[in-house]
Amino acid sequence: MSQRPIYLDCHATTPVDKRVLEAMLPYFTECFGNPSSIAHSYGWEAEAAVKKARATLAEAIGSKPEEIIFTSGATEANNLAIKGVAEAYFSQGRHMIAVQTEHRAVLDPCLYLQQLGFEVTFLPVQPDGLLDLAQLEKAFRPDTILVSVMAANNEIGVLQPIAKIGEMCRQRGVLFHTDAAQAIGKVTLDVETAKVDLLSFTAHKIYGPKGIGALYARRRNPRVKLAPQVHGGGQERGLRSGTLYPPQIVGFGKAVELALAEMDSEAKRLRRLRERLWKTLQNVEGIHLNGHPKQRLPGNLNVSVEGVDGAALLLGLQSVVAVSSGSACSSTATTPSHVLTALGREETLAYASIRFGLGRFTTQKEIDTVAKSAIATIQSLRQAGQPQAFSIPKPS
Ligand SMILES: *Cc1c(COP(=O)(O)O)cnc(C)c1O
Repeated sequence: MSQRPIYLDCHATTPVDKRVLEAMLPYFTECFGNPSSIAHSYGWEAEAAVKKARATLAEAIGSKPEEIIFTSGATEANNLAIKGVAEAYFSQGRHMIAVQTEHRAVLDPCLYLQQLGFEVTFLPVQPDGLLDLAQLEKAFRPDTILVSVMAANNEIGVLQPIAKIGEMCRQRGVLFHTDAAQAIGKVTLDVETAKVDLLSFTAHKIYGPKGIGALYARRRNPRVKLAPQVHGGGQERGLRSGTLYPPQIVGFGKAVELALAEMDSEAKRLRRLRERLWKTLQNVEGIHLNGHPKQRLPGNLNVSVEGVDGAALLLGLQSVVAVSSGSACSSTATTPSHVLTALGREETLAYASIRFGLGRFTTQKEIDTVAKSAIATIQSLRQAGQPQAFSIPKPS
């Protein structure tokens, strides 16, 4: 078998952990019941498994189990949160606030709502990717019903000051949603201390299966009203109809359980590997870090490279390492990443970027191989290519 490239694209997705798969397997063939079947033991055992996973998820974010709504992933959770709040609260106000660096699964529902007559303020970020809270302060209006700010960015790994934003929203009686798809299991999240009202998460970024996620929606102080976006059999208290998928839900629960149990030691290990990679890459000149150097996910490194063509860089690396430029979801686009552009990155630098996503199965040996190969690729591209002056100023 030919050797496959080293996988450093853990912000796009992660492999299912074997311990997760193990937990899921009985629910395909033996315990295949429908959790909504209340008349027999097939249904009961499926329902018990769902209940256990729901409790695990709730505990992970400091919520109550009945505040967890299973969805097909974070995209659907974001849609339910944003469109569900818009529909339920439009008589009170039609203004929302989001950030320019959000995932498309937040930006696009917002743009859709704009077409329906809602107004959305897309706040800029500072050059390090962090939201300026003074900007947020100024953006609130009497008719603001929702603020949506992601906990951790999927491209540059930047961690937004969620607790401060939650406090600002609570003081004004505005609901606060956070897309925590990248944050869950990697940094501490608590919906009480951070005053979060809605939180989206997903299993496949934390070594669980694809196609399963959840939305947390607060039920007390305040009770969040949501208009369902999928109608049908009334599952999930009518907020998200459709037969629950026990194997995926059990896998999600197990993935969260493992991620939390190993969070501290993993964070330390990944931070060390990430710093090692960054330190080695800095041996070539004209490499810039994108995003805040400290306030970011332990496994994230995002760099822009001067004097090389972005597409040529990815092409040169692809036999050695699987990485993305920008986000996976938009990597087919030829436009530079909207996140890097929001940081004020000039177009060619935004385009010539690499996102390294380190994860549970990344080893030091792999990091060293990737660093060596990246440096060699950059140097050979520069030698072969257009002579370019290193004229672009370093980010502040
Ligand atoms: C991956 C991701 C999503 C989409 O999640 P799916 O479960 O794939 O729908 C949304 N937001 C962020 C920040 C992500 O990283």
